[in-house]
Amino acid sequence: MGEYVEEMAQSALEKAQEVLAHTFGFADFRDRQADIIQAVLRGDNALVVMPTGGGKSLCYQIPSLVRRGVGIVVSPLIALMQDQVNALSNQGVRAAFMNSTLDSGQYFALEQRLRRGEIDILYLAPERLLQNRTLELFDQIPIALFAVDEAHCVAQWGHDFRADYLRLEMLRERYPQVPRLALTATADARTQQEITQRLGLDDDASFICGFDRANIEYRIQQKNSPRRQLLRFLQEEQPGNAGIVYCLSRNKVDDTAIWLRDQGFAALPYHAGMTARDRQRHQDRFLREDGIIIVATIAFGMGIDKPNVRFVAHLDMPKSIEAYYQETGRAGRDGEPASAILFYGMEDVVKLSQMVANSEGDENHKRAERQRLNAMLGLCEMTACRRQALLRYFGETLEQPCGNCDNCLSPPTTWDATEAVQKALSCVYRTGQRFGAAHVIEVLRGSENEKVRQFGHHRVSTYGIGRDISVDVWRSLFRQLLVLGYLEVDPRGYGNLLLTQKCRPLLRGEESIQLHREIKPPKKAAAKKALADIEPQHQTLWNALRGLRKQLAQANSVPPYVIFSDTTLKEMLVKRPLSKREMLCVNGVGDIKLERFGDAFLELICEHEYSE
Ligand code: ADP
Ligand code: ZN
Repeated sequence: MGEYVEEMAQSALEKAQEVLAHTFGFADFRDRQADIIQAVLRGDNALVVMPTGGGKSLCYQIPSLVRRGVGIVVSPLIALMQDQVNALSNQGVRAAFMNSTLDSGQYFALEQRLRRGEIDILYLAPERLLQNRTLELFDQIPIALFAVDEAHCVAQWGHDFRADYLRLEMLRERYPQVPRLALTATADARTQQEITQRLGLDDDASFICGFDRANIEYRIQQKNSPRRQLLRFLQEEQPGNAGIVYCLSRNKVDDTAIWLRDQGFAALPYHAGMTARDRQRHQDRFLREDGIIIVATIAFGMGIDKPNVRFVAHLDMPKSIEAYYQETGRAGRDGEPASAILFYGMEDVVKLSQMVANSEGDENHKRAERQRLNAMLGLCEMTACRRQALLRYFGETLEQPCGNCDNCLSPPTTWDATEAVQKALSCVYRTGQRFGAAHVIEVLRGSENEKVRQFGHHRVSTYGIGRDISVDVWRSLFRQLLVLGYLEVDPRGYGNLLLTQKCRPLLRGEESIQLHREIKPPKKAAAKKALADIEPQHQTLWNALRGLRKQLAQANSVPPYVIFSDTTLKEMLVKRPLSKREMLCVNGVGDIKLERFGDAFLELICEHEYSE
């Protein structure tokens, strides 16, 4: 019996391979996709933890097509169902969604199609699934599988618990023969355990895939003049690319978006203070048009399913590594090179420390928040490979430095800062530990400004002893002292700096200290990469391909990447297919897409081939 089942599963896997090639146009499964699909085809349950962009969707889409009956996908993100269904329909998959936007006529028609077995994949929200009318319908039709997307919502321990998800526990009893697949990008060990238990999965059915997002380049820089830094990054490395710029406050979001538009970028704001309609409009444009930059608070991002986000830039420091990883993870879901760049400064450290100090919640909570903030600061200030540190934070080991972060690409240098640090610390002391770094730096540099005189600080012994060091270097030095624990922000939340016990040996001259010189942006390496992206001789055809894709996207009212992904267009650029056969060899071109769009692209490529 067991052997027989294995054999069946084997032939089913071959079938899956065929669907992968013909329907989705991909040559190989990625990572553990094949294992997962094989398990589901065998009729097993599975828990899939895979980073965003890892390719979770195929894990339930292919079994839905191979197994008898309709695959039911439970997802909380109603707004995205339409796009997912469009993308599948474009590949010739019979997909549909069931939600409140359907009128009763449409609903009835859908029900009929389900009963006739004319739907392969059906998307719906948990509350819809749990309605009697839906369940009674499902009792009567063959079901291929249940896929629970964003499965961490079922865990009370998780960070995004939803009560509706809890009731999905009933699936196990009502449909014991139907495989259940739980998928999520974020679940620590305890959350995984809770998902497994609530959805009645088997203990050995977990597929935990690595956290690493190898195609994302991580860069963290000191904030000198953030707008200029951002502008240079956008102009030199990301011209015409889509991306997200995160800011901490709504005002800053609005200002930055306006400023970017003045600089000639297609930038749109997004934050919780805007009307739902405007937010939706901006999100839609980001999804549907090429090269839009969204400037947003952290309100933006949950469930954003755009594969070709080329960069995520932070103009303010996130409050934890978890937040940083989640936000940067929205870049490069298509697996193509993407950049995550963060500009951080002393103001951020002070502001975030104050937010923790003034937050509600008990001492334990505050301590945990402070620890998270310190870990984030540690990541900013470190001189070794950032990816190794990030993965270590999530409990994974990366053996070798990654070669794709700023510290790997241009290792930072250090300097003996003992004397400068002594000056800085005594100046904090002489001015009564009642001021922030900005003022202390004014005093050190012998500033003539009003405030310095008003407090009589032009008469303290440390006045003007640091003229030889620039403001930027002083700022970097103070920031490092904060992170290293020589200084702390007053826990009462006033923003002034206090000396800590750790200072003593330094002030007594018993210890020396090395600080790192702020890193120059790894411009050369990055600029080279951006150029290597599309080589100059390909540029005309590249623009033409993108233009055609846009035209087809508009004609079909879908986002451009639903026609073909960037990866697929790039492959066309390199392979220059001139026949349908050659076109089919391009990753991402399946039978249906070949039929629908193949000729248009072939024609374009031929034209270029013979006119160059
Ligand atoms: P997730 O849901 O895990 O965030 P998706 O399922 O949206 O990720 O997949 C991310 C991208 O990877 C999509 O553009 C998808 O087409 C692509 N992809 C998935 N599996 C493969 C594969 N085996 N080969 C090539 N591309 C793939
Ligand atoms: Zn590295």
